[in-house]
Amino acid sequence: MLSTHGYAAMQAGAPLRPFSFERRDPGPDDVLIAIRYCGICHSDIHQARDEWGGSIFPMVPGHEIVGTVTQVGSAVKTFREGETVGVGCFVDSCRTCESCQRGLEQYCETGMILTYNGLDKKGQPTYGGYSNQIVVDHRYVLRIPPGLPLAGAAPLLCAGITTYSPLRHWGVGSGHRLAVVGLGGLGHMAVKIGRALGAEVTVLSHSEAKRKDAERLGASDFVATSQPAVLTALARRFHFVMDTVSAPHDANVYLDTLKTDGTMILVGAPTEPMPVAPFSLILKRRRFVGSLIGGIRETQDMLEFCAQHGITSDVEVIPIQQVNEAYERVIRGDVRFRFVIDLASL
Ligand code: NAP
Ligand code: ZN
Ligand code: ZN
Repeated sequence: MLSTHGYAAMQAGAPLRPFSFERRDPGPDDVLIAIRYCGICHSDIHQARDEWGGSIFPMVPGHEIVGTVTQVGSAVKTFREGETVGVGCFVDSCRTCESCQRGLEQYCETGMILTYNGLDKKGQPTYGGYSNQIVVDHRYVLRIPPGLPLAGAAPLLCAGITTYSPLRHWGVGSGHRLAVVGLGGLGHMAVKIGRALGAEVTVLSHSEAKRKDAERLGASDFVATSQPAVLTALARRFHFVMDTVSAPHDANVYLDTLKTDGTMILVGAPTEPMPVAPFSLILKRRRFVGSLIGGIRETQDMLEFCAQHGITSDVEVIPIQQVNEAYERVIRGDVRFRFVIDLASL
């Protein structure tokens, strides 16, 4: 077993603290990765506080992982020692179901194995990227294209793919007006990627505070939604809305900003149900769809796309000792736009 160090929440809502644990010895198909950076996703906070239910403790969060390969198993032909690699939200899946066969491992019929807060095929808990090293089957490891700054690349492994996947799936591109609701970790990636795909992007943010940032990120328009009348004025304006908001909110006010046949893509995962008024959908044949991260093949495509377009996340790099303070700041919306932990601080 590999003695490993990290930070864990010992129970729901407890502050994270130093924690030592063991990882499996790398097998023939495994890659051992020395972790360099790990992003802080709002999902880490939802799970460390058990806001979605079913959390497993102790929990070492972290699923936006970038690091260096330090060892490869005898059967691994695709990675070598010294290579820069990434790990996202899952580290295994059944590999045989229809979803896995289609490269949609995130929708695996028997359930993907989460990078943390999951159980591996032997029933052992998985631990994430707020730690010095991780052992992952090579089929679930991504290649980080050369030239991408590593701290800024880490959030691509969740925030990047979560926004890229549905934008590609629904064919968002030139000639489309895309509204991004919530300018946080996911939202700012949606602006950059949506723009690179050719869409005209409007940011719908709950206050005026991020107007300048939105322009700098490439949005052509910015609307502060604190006054409901503002949204009424946007009725039937957009082809697509991507909702990245982490807190409970009314979906209908955003559905009403869609054109006929428009699509609202839900990626934010608040803890409360989101009631939909039937006429928000019926009257304009609108769609309200969800999307979960992305498969391994598509994540690799996304990384290449971001490298081609010079896209990374805007990050604030922190030592791991500041993780609890960072959680509080994420909840307050006080981050531009992703905290990334430098594991050298561990
Ligand atoms: P984040 O950085 O905290 O961003 C969320 C944004 O939502 C905030 O920046 C804020 O934007 C807006 N917001 C927050 N509280 C609000 C409130 N009370 N009222 C109105 N707006 C509010 O979080 P994130 O890491 O981007 O994650 C966003 C959500 O996506 C989380 O629920 C997370 O669990 C989920 N997620 C889903 C997937 C998936 O596969 N579907 C993957 C990753 C994360 P403004 O200040 O601009 O209003
Ligand atoms: Zn995430
Ligand atoms: Zn499967």
